[in-house]
Amino acid sequence: MKFDVVVIGGGLSGLVCGIRLQEAGLRCAVVSMGQSELHYSSGSFDLLSQLPDGTPVTDPVEALDQLEEDHPYRRIGKLRFEHYAEEIPPMLYRCNILVQDALLENRYRITSQGQMKPTWLPFADFQLFNNPHQMPWKKALILNFEGFTDFYVQPITEAMLSRGVQCHTDIVALPSVEKLRQRLTELASVNVASVFEYTDQIDELVKVINPMSKDYDVVVLPAVFGLTSSASYQYLCSRMDKELCLVPTMPPSVPGLRTQRQLCERFCRLGGTLLNGDTVERAIVENHEVKGIFTVNQGEVELTATHFVLATGSFFSHGLVTEDDEVKEPIFGIDVQQKAHTGFGVKTDAQFHPMIGGQRIKNLYAIGSILPGFDPMREGCSGGVALLTAFAVSNRIINQTVES
Ligand SMILES: Cc1cc2nc3c(=O)[nH]c(=O)nc-3n(C[C@H](O)[C@H](O)[C@H](O)COP(=O)(O)OP(=O)(O)OC[C@H]3O[C@@H](n4cnc5c(N)ncnc54)[C@H](O)[C@@H]3O)c2cc1C
Repeated sequence: MKFDVVVIGGGLSGLVCGIRLQEAGLRCAVVSMGQSELHYSSGSFDLLSQLPDGTPVTDPVEALDQLEEDHPYRRIGKLRFEHYAEEIPPMLYRCNILVQDALLENRYRITSQGQMKPTWLPFADFQLFNNPHQMPWKKALILNFEGFTDFYVQPITEAMLSRGVQCHTDIVALPSVEKLRQRLTELASVNVASVFEYTDQIDELVKVINPMSKDYDVVVLPAVFGLTSSASYQYLCSRMDKELCLVPTMPPSVPGLRTQRQLCERFCRLGGTLLNGDTVERAIVENHEVKGIFTVNQGEVELTATHFVLATGSFFSHGLVTEDDEVKEPIFGIDVQQKAHTGFGVKTDAQFHPMIGGQRIKNLYAIGSILPGFDPMREGCSGGVALLTAFAVSNRIINQTVES
């Protein structure tokens, strides 16, 4: 099978790269083994929340110069960083992924644990706050579904109380959710969300919560609306008497699963070839160039392309593995680098070409979580790194294709 580009890994970075390449008219395949980090998404894309020394960041563009030189953002450069960050929301809209109005500055969102976290671009279902110490309500009704244990009411209540919001908590018992609970040993967010894919069930919910909410400014609910699109959330908002504030649940994340699905759908609608549930096992590299790759399901059928993009994630998604006490990149055997505060990642040059045995592989690129040079937890930048490196590499490939 011959393509212009083969992307290995169908998480946020791989799919966004594939979508941009297809949008530019290239023939692209994405091979993806399984779950991605999006399944655990807390509901927003973070660009840069803190500097490595812990200093909070309000303006990510301004803070860029203070990152180390091998940070993926420094490699992209300030001008391109700004340009790509502006292009991301329209690209997400083309995938039907609704996000909040984007400013190039951080605001705050509430986490599943009730903390206020700086963020850049939340999905439209989540509330953004300008001030982490204030909320725009006086009285909140915080509701959970009977038997749903993946929504933490107590820390959310404490967070709201500490910001001057009076709270009342209650339980909603709906026959449809109750029926599910009796069938399953454990009620997960996706199960509850599957009930609310139907408008008649949202009508049932609204019949219960509208009368309960009459003395409150806002109703807080777990983020279990919209497995396949944002339609359920929008329908719910349109039927409620009071403002709605959704708060993330424990994984799996309903907005994250929806995003994964919408990216896959967009890629396929554009004519991309998605080999979902397949694993790239090995590659042929000759003269510092990838000739082809082989997958479990395709067996001896070689996938060839002009360019290859490695978007297999970090340890979490098996993009990096530990073997014989050594950290390895399992497909190509790319050189791995480690730094004390940023951990492991594959060595690349400034254009994200990986190195094998110290030699640059000219038609291979690495993007997303597999890259080194950043600390995703501390800096709050991992979604941004996935998106912006996907933009940087897809642009490079598109430009090379146009020039040749
Ligand atoms: C719990 C949690 C919460 C998070 N919250 C946030 C947040 O609030 N904001 C934010 O910005 N970011 C957040 N992130 C991080 C963000 O989701 C990731 O940075 C981003 O999704 C990474 O995308 P990726 O494509 O680089 O990697 P991944 O999502 O890891 O995708 C890699 C894909 O490659 C596939 N793969 C691996 N090996 C192979 C192979 N050999 N063959 C074929 N396919 C393969 C995997 O199955 C996987 O689908 C969170 C991450 C986690 C884990």
